[in-house]
Amino acid sequence: MEHPEPLPGLLPDTAPDTLRPAPRRPVRCALCGRPLTGAQSRRTGLGPACDAKLHPAGADIPTRRHEVDQEPLPGT
Ligand SMILES: [Zn+2]
Repeated sequence: MEHPEPLPGLLPDTAPDTLRPAPRRPVRCALCGRPLTGAQSRRTGLGPACDAKLHPAGADIPTRRHEVDQEPLPGT
């Protein structure tokens, strides 16, 4: 006697992986849970905003925003 139908579990009724395009698992921000798109954000696991929140730009990060070639306004 043979089973007319395959036992459930032997042949899973799920499409093979080749038919299911599995996109890269979305990396989410560890803080707010928003999907990260930037490579740096994926690496750190934090969005830019949250990363800045946790790691505020301090003396370690040189910022040159004040080095602007601009002369002070005379007279004022
Ligand atoms: Zn975040």
